[in-house]
Amino acid sequence: MRRALITGGGSGIGLAIAKRLSETCDVTVLGRGKARLDATGFKTIVADVADPALKIDGAFDIVVNNAGIVRSAPFHKLTETDWAGMLNINVMGTVHVTRAVLPVMRERNWGRIVNIASTAALKGYAYVSAYVASKHALLGLTRALALELVATGVTVNAVCPGYTDTDIVREAVANIAAKTKRSEDEARAELASTNPQRRLIAPAEVAAAVAYLVSDEAAAVTGQAIAIDGGETA
Ligand code: NAD
Repeated sequence: MRRALITGGGSGIGLAIAKRLSETCDVTVLGRGKARLDATGFKTIVADVADPALKIDGAFDIVVNNAGIVRSAPFHKLTETDWAGMLNINVMGTVHVTRAVLPVMRERNWGRIVNIASTAALKGYAYVSAYVASKHALLGLTRALALELVATGVTVNAVCPGYTDTDIVREAVANIAAKTKRSEDEARAELASTNPQRRLIAPAEVAAAVAYLVSDEAAAVTGQAIAIDGGETA
């Protein structure tokens, strides 16, 4: 049975991916909070992906770099710490985890790396400039690494969800409602309206795309950005 590691697997999209991949793989979830990871029932690794000295015990055939954070604020209000936080987790977190798991994949001539980017890797959005920059960087890393590993049996792809029904979006809704004096329902409807299907994406829809990308059948798919966004970036 193939072994899959999902970062940020204790909640939201990561947990949906863990559940879906557990149908065919031996799953380990990695994150910072032990209690939340333990509650998933999967094998766990407690670690911070932003740690440059990150070491990961165990051999993995599949890694899903899903851990990520967002802080929304106008550009002039984003601090050096905000920028460092988003770049260190969303970009360097993927670098650290990938660096740790890649030697075994290369040795086995088989591997699947899936980076959970965002539609923010494909287009801009106002008031989330550091997040958008980090997700564009993550997609650039995905494309470059895919080419670098093209002869190794290791594929590298990005999945780019639009607004998905998780804590990140629930916090964004509360934030918009507080700042704009609109109701949470109005704020949620505004986020949903960025999707031509006028709805939030379900975490399981993102997980289904990941399940395809990690399959044997997807061996020829590498360096791609698969948008799960109801046509927002069409
Ligand atoms: P979430 O907050 O539920 O998930 C993020 C997970 O990453 C959490 O479990 C968190 O604990 C973990 N994490 C954060 N920093 C970490 C660190 N330094 N080390 C280890 N783990 C860390 O939100 P989500 O919506 O499920 O987000 C998952 C991914 O999907 C993120 O990369 C996010 O940018 C991306 N995404 C989300 C949406 C959306 O609308 N929800 C849309 C596009 C992309």
